[in-house]
Order: sequence, then C-alpha cells, then structure tokens
Amino acid sequence: MTKIRTAALALIAAALLAVSCAGGRPAEPADLILTNAAVTTMAANEPRAEALAVTDGKIVFVGDSRKALMRRGGSTRVVDLGGRMVLPAFQDSHIHLVMGGVESLSCNIAELETKEAVFARIREYAAAHPELPWVTGGGWALPLFPQANPRKEDLDVLVPDRPAILDAADGHSSWANSRALALAGITRDTQDPVGGRIERDPKTGEPTGTLRESAAGLVESHVPELGPADYINGLRAGLAMANRFGIASIIEARADGGILDAYVALDRAGELSLRVLASLQVDTDKGVSEARRLAALRQRYVGTRLKATAAKIFADGVIESHTAALLEPYVDRPGDRGTLLLEPEAFDALARALDLAGFQIHVHAIGDRAIRMSLDAFAAAGRANGFRDMRHHIAHLELIDPADIPRFKRLGVAANFQALWAYPDTYITDLTLPILGPGRSRWLYPIGSVAATGAVIVGGSDWSVSSMNPLEAIQVALTRRDPGDPPGEAWIPEEKVDLATMLRAYTVNGAWLCHEEKVRGTLETGKAADLIVIDRDLFAIPASEIGRARVLLTLLDGREIFRDPSFK
Ligand SMILES: [Zn+2]
Repeated sequence: MTKIRTAALALIAAALLAVSCAGGRPAEPADLILTNAAVTTMAANEPRAEALAVTDGKIVFVGDSRKALMRRGGSTRVVDLGGRMVLPAFQDSHIHLVMGGVESLSCNIAELETKEAVFARIREYAAAHPELPWVTGGGWALPLFPQANPRKEDLDVLVPDRPAILDAADGHSSWANSRALALAGITRDTQDPVGGRIERDPKTGEPTGTLRESAAGLVESHVPELGPADYINGLRAGLAMANRFGIASIIEARADGGILDAYVALDRAGELSLRVLASLQVDTDKGVSEARRLAALRQRYVGTRLKATAAKIFADGVIESHTAALLEPYVDRPGDRGTLLLEPEAFDALARALDLAGFQIHVHAIGDRAIRMSLDAFAAAGRANGFRDMRHHIAHLELIDPADIPRFKRLGVAANFQALWAYPDTYITDLTLPILGPGRSRWLYPIGSVAATGAVIVGGSDWSVSSMNPLEAIQVALTRRDPGDPPGEAWIPEEKVDLATMLRAYTVNGAWLCHEEKVRGTLETGKAADLIVIDRDLFAIPASEIGRARVLLTLLDGREIFRDPSFK
C-alpha cells in the first residue's frame, strides 16, 4: 500500500517537473556560472558534476555545462574552468586566527639559516614599522650565535632608536638590545632572577644581551600590552592568509576578551571574510560557575558571521615536554604519567554543566589518558542530560588507546585531527618515539582507525603552530610522509585515509560541527556559495602532489574573498 502510494506521488512529481521545465517561467539569470569544471559537491548522492551556477550568494544549479548556461543573462559572469576543480570552501576546525595573525605581524626571524639573514630581516622589519614603540618577535636559531649567545651590540645597530626583544626558536632564550635592558634596569649589578640567567661578558661582567628563561621576563614585563588595534590588525592578516588557502570558515580554538572584540569589530564593519565559531576559554579552576560567565559572553559576541557557542577546555599538555597525560608512564621517567590539567570528577561536572547550558565542548587532549578522561566526561554529560546534539569534539588526539577508538562514534564525539603532524619529523623521531616506546607509538595519530569506525573526522591546522594550508594536511593524512618528500614508505601505513575522507573532514563535516550543514558545506542547490577553485583535480594527481595544488578563487556567500592574480 505504502509502496504504491509512493510510486504514484513520484509520477505526479515528475509530471510537475516536466511542466516547469518546458513551459514554466525561465530561471532568473545567474550572477556566476562555472562550466567545464571538475565539481566535487561532497553531497552524498551526486558527488561529481561539470558546472555550477550562483545567484544572490546561493547555489542555484549543479549539473552539466549546457543546462547551466541556460541561466546565462546579460550580467552573468561565465568562467570556463578547463577541467579545474571546484570544491566547497574549506573549514579549519582548530585555529588561532587572531593570535597567529598578531604573531605574523611581529618580527619573524624563524627558519633563517645565517646570521646575516637574521640581521637583514630585523633591519628591514624595523624600517618598515617606524610606528611600533618596540620591536618584538623572534624565532632565531640558537646555533647561529657562538654559545647561543647573540650580542646586544649587534641588535643596537639594527634597532638603534627603540627597545627590541626577540625570542629564540625554542622559546627559552631572548635577545635584547641596550635600550630594552636599560628600560628593565638590567645592569652588571642585577642579580639573576629565580629560574633564569642574565648572560654576562666574562671580562667585564656587563650583560651581553641574551636572557635565559625567567630573565627574559625582566624585559618582557615592559613591553606594552596588545591594544584593540593590534588584535584587529592581526585578525586582518589572518583573514587574508586563510582566504588565500581557500578557508571560508573556522573554529577559533581559544577565544577571550581582545580576540572576541576583534572578531565582533570586523564582523560589524563587514570585513569578517569567513564564518567564525569561537571556542570560549574556560577557566577550569572556577568549575561549573563558568557556564554562567560563558553564557553571557555567548550573548554578547554574536554577529552576522560570528557565534561564540563553544567552550574550550585544556585536558593536558604535550608529549615532547612530558606534560601530556598518559595511561602508562613515560619510558624515560618511571612512574611519571604526565599531568591532567583537571581531575576527572571536575571534568565530568564541568562537561555536564556546559552541555546543559547548550555549549559545544572543544577539548585539547593529546595523551591517551587525557583523551579517555574527555570521552568519559562526554559520556557522563550524556547520562545526566540526555542527548542534546551538542557535537562535542576533541582536538589533537595524538595518542589514542585502541580501546577508546570506537567510543567517538558511539558517543557522537567528533575527532578533530591536525593531520599535518602525522609524519615522522624530528618532534616525533627525537622527542616522541623514544619516550613512548614502540608498542603504543603504533597508536600515534590513528586517523584511519577512527575513520573506519564511522566517527566524524574534522581537520584543523592549529596555526600558527603549523602551516595553515589544508592541502598539505590532507596530503599527509594520505601519505603519512613529510609533505616535501617524494612518494615512498608511509609511517604507520594502517592509519592512512583516502582523499574523500579528508575532503569531507575539511568541508561537509566542518559545517556539521558548526551546526551549519543545512546551509553550507556541500555544493547543492539552495546552499551558500562558499566554494573554491583549485588549479588541478585532486582526484587525478598522486597524493604526494596534493600539497602543491593551489587555490585560485575563494567565494563566501558568492562574494569573492580571494583571487589568485594568475586566475583571470
Ligand atoms: Zn591550539
């Protein structure tokens, strides 16, 4: 009975469709038509198409080029893409866009290989920024200077007119000029602070300009705090970079005052060129009362493209410094299992309260003990509150105990991987494998195993910790090799995933994570025209070349937010 009725309805629908195509009024002319393209829609039923049309910021047609061109009008822009790829715009689900941008505007001397190159960069930066009262930044490599001890006299020549302080790449030393030392009152008579050392000339006892550990704080306490304009300028720099990489939506990984003010300011000015879901920083010491404070922020920081409906909790630290919380001790430190940043009972209570208050919980968890505790807390929230569809997620997920892998799917918790980290660089070979040992190292970045359970996988860069380019991270998830390497043997090959899985992670699954899957994330009629054009079809090239592909065009609500100069 039911079957017959369905069939009859389908016939009626088909007849109506035929009428509207043949004799109905013609569709409104499109603003933009992309033809002759490798359109990957990320929709479940119609994965590939040839053409797409956009009107008023929305996708109005997906299909073949001939039919798309029927929507051409006098002011329609038509672009023949010559086989290039069209995808939904990317979402970065864990990024520090404002602070990364602020950092990118400071004097960046990372990855320079000679002292001369460092000096040249500092001189250029100081000349380009006469308005700054201080020159700050850093990234200098210790081996460039004798005894890892750069001299204030050199920095005095490079920055003669203002104080300057530049951090070493490892963050444990700083290099100051004479003006900075004078402002901080550091002389030959100044005692070394607890936990720090002022490097001195062995003959004269004069400070040389290098400050170790806490000694840097003597100068840093004089650096002016960031003001609203610094945050806004940082956000502008971050937006430009994100749009260039095809990113039209983000989850800000850790937001508070100055960061939120910058987002809301640019949203009101119409300059926020991507969608933002801000994860509000939770002060875990304050416990469940945080739910109330965060609810007030959620109400205050809302805009056209901004919402602050997530809460961020740090569960542990990082493996390299033995601060990630492990189920079994570090190999080189008997009895030391790292540190949980809050007790499981406190986490359960907090998760219950935040879940009940309608917050999505975004956790930083790296070690297998911190990950298990986070999953336990989500389970506790579910038992207490029932299913509330909050779409909680855990970011980083470096070491997952195999027993916990099926729990993501079971609990409806998304796995937020930073796939660019999943290859054996020196952080892994020198600082991770030796302290985890071979057995559990098999379970580092188990993206394939989590994906195989059917759990939702999403992707993020953690920029400025690592490259913002989603295509590089996608490549590494497929190859488990250095993105700069040619094809070869994968690291833990069982954990490789396929291209479709990773494209979903950066598009449709990201939209789902933001509760926006009904309005964006796939290229389907009626959805927002958040899309990108890539210079080659990713499905037609070897995985080891994906990171070299380039985004040529990024649209948000049909509006161009990035165009490569080579793309006409
Ligand atoms: Zn982060």
